[in-house]
Amino acid sequence: MQKPVFAANWKMHNGPQETRAYLQRFLAAYPEDPSRTVIFFPPAVSLAIAGFALRERPEILVGVQNVYWEEKGAFTGETSAPMARDAGAKVALVGHSERRQYFGDTDEVTARKCAAACKAGLIPMLCVGERLDERERNATQAVVLRQFKTGVSRLEPSQIANMVIAYEPVWAIGTGRTARPEDATAVHTAIRRSLREMIGPKAAEVPILYGGSVNAENAAELLAAPEIDGLLVGGASLDPETWVRIVRA
Ligand code: PEP
Repeated sequence: MQKPVFAANWKMHNGPQETRAYLQRFLAAYPEDPSRTVIFFPPAVSLAIAGFALRERPEILVGVQNVYWEEKGAFTGETSAPMARDAGAKVALVGHSERRQYFGDTDEVTARKCAAACKAGLIPMLCVGERLDERERNATQAVVLRQFKTGVSRLEPSQIANMVIAYEPVWAIGTGRTARPEDATAVHTAIRRSLREMIGPKAAEVPILYGGSVNAENAAELLAAPEIDGLLVGGASLDPETWVRIVRA
């Protein structure tokens, strides 16, 4: 049984000074626990300071919230995967629903970003999830599997075996509505089946996280559900003490 993964997506919160203050409080409340993996996704401008603040806790990883697929060049405002790695990132979030909704990241763009992350030695955490209208017309699994299959279409099987997947129903992100554990399990099971078709028994080792209005009260129940290997948390990760309670769920 792999270790549960707890990933904090700070979105556009916590600049460098706030990151330093947050991590001081978090580290004071969270002694090393080898039974779980913790990942922070700060904004790109705070990556280096997060890496520095966590330098004595190598078991806690830092990730970048988004990368561009080119390595360098005239792409004003973008961050490449090698640059994020240089700043301390080990993981790259790709295909988050806010990227898809507000910045036009398509399945194909997401696939390029996944490939760029792998090429730079970052672990891609690929986010997939259906909108409410898609759930209401029973298209959840079709949408999620399309996003997943296209997202990994540029990866080698060995790269797929080393990635992380996050199922985040769009209607649950930041809304206070959470998927029922059994509904999340059904989607995770479908993703796992698809993974098995691609990479065989190694599919069992790929963590599939749930995200969408997770908080300190519902985290344990979600984690206990079959096929939920960890949690990706936005809003509730912004308070360090609440985040410690979730990580200990
Ligand atoms: C997210 O941003 O990935 C997320 C799940 O947000 P929230 O926990 O706030 O719903």
